[in-house]
Amino acid sequence: MISKESASKILAEGLKTGADFAEIYIEDVNQLSLGLDDSRLERAVQGNDRGAGIRLFFGNLVTYAYTDVLTEDSMLEAAKSAASAGTSSGKNQVIDLTEKKSSLDFDIKKSFDNLSIDDKAAILNQIDEVGRAHSPLVAQVFGRYMERSRKVWIYNSEGLYVHDNRDFVEMMMGVIAQKDGVLQRSFMGFGGQVGLELLDNNDPIEKIKEAADSAIRMLDAKPAPVGEMTVVLPNGWGGVLFHEACGHQMEADFITNGASAYANKVGETVASPIITAIDDGTIAGRRGSIRFDDDGTSSQRTVLIENGVLKEYMWDKVEARRVGRDTSTGNGRRQSYRHMPMPRMTNTFIDAGEHDPDEIIENTKHGVYVKSMAGGQADITRGDFVFNATEAYLIEDGKLTTPLRGATMTGNGPEVLKEIDMVGTDLALDPGMGMCGKGQSARVSVGQPTVRLPRVMVGGTGE
Ligand SMILES: [Zn+2]
Repeated sequence: MISKESASKILAEGLKTGADFAEIYIEDVNQLSLGLDDSRLERAVQGNDRGAGIRLFFGNLVTYAYTDVLTEDSMLEAAKSAASAGTSSGKNQVIDLTEKKSSLDFDIKKSFDNLSIDDKAAILNQIDEVGRAHSPLVAQVFGRYMERSRKVWIYNSEGLYVHDNRDFVEMMMGVIAQKDGVLQRSFMGFGGQVGLELLDNNDPIEKIKEAADSAIRMLDAKPAPVGEMTVVLPNGWGGVLFHEACGHQMEADFITNGASAYANKVGETVASPIITAIDDGTIAGRRGSIRFDDDGTSSQRTVLIENGVLKEYMWDKVEARRVGRDTSTGNGRRQSYRHMPMPRMTNTFIDAGEHDPDEIIENTKHGVYVKSMAGGQADITRGDFVFNATEAYLIEDGKLTTPLRGATMTGNGPEVLKEIDMVGTDLALDPGMGMCGKGQSARVSVGQPTVRLPRVMVGGTGE
């Protein structure tokens, strides 16, 4: 993006007033999104966003300045601005930059221009037609196509230079079904850090039919029972509960400020012994995968919890420096060049267990099986959560019976994690739609096998 000579000069400018570390982060993002709402295809939104951020460390003091003009002069100005916090009159340093390559193969097979915008819009129109024709109970169809190419370059005063390409495609489609004044919404989606081969491996037409069937089944659902009961959560997207209600508390900023239930607990039992949990940024094709994080650290697989024992937190450079660690775990991520990195999850999941998923249902006398979940809300520093099921069934004597509407689950993540008593063999990651908000937004994956929570408060107010 810029020459090594330019980068070296900008870093040297940043170090002039006494900073002990300087970094340039450059980003170039291209995005296309197409929306379909109530049979209307919205105009394609195409955008480019590029810029650079200069970050300096003066011990634990961090300063940041950014620019959307990618010229050497403009970046030198940003470096001067970030350096104005320093007081010493420094010497001119020469930074020798060496490119570090990743061994991870995330290459996409079919580039975005294999289909025209009209071709992509035609897929949405087809979703609309098929969804409407599927049943007279389908009142509305909606859908979205999005592709995003994010290229980043990072240079720092330790001599590091890395480049990463992150390409994403995602599709979401859903319906609103209606009967006797009852409305039921259901949606499906898929995505990943892939090219248009995503559409070879996932069929949007099958997915819209599935979404319609799910919404129609739920039209006849009964209100969910209220009270404390056993809940079986689905594999894949069900892992969003672990992500929101437990995972955030293993991010190092919540650890170093003492807010987390997991602070100072490494080596202690914090979960049921059948729980192993992992954050892995190295899985090809996944939304949360990164060759390098936004600090320039190689991404890695980090075991967070092993057989119930807390092993490690997720670190970025700032928090690692704060506690004197030599290395971070490669979890420093940022929304854009306008932001500084912070510790964030990548692809985070509960690992496979020993129980056949059918056996988990068969062994449950009375409870609720959640087939699909919408998002929910969690206080990420405490882990208190409220999640809504979009499709749920009563479990009676080991069998799925009545469909339930509006089931909400309430609890505390770290408490629930200690109580999980069955973990399935059917580990899956979510279909590739996950977006995490923590002041900044980040693409992530979540996952888990089927798991059983012996006691969770279920309410009936999810609508
Ligand atoms: Zn999150």
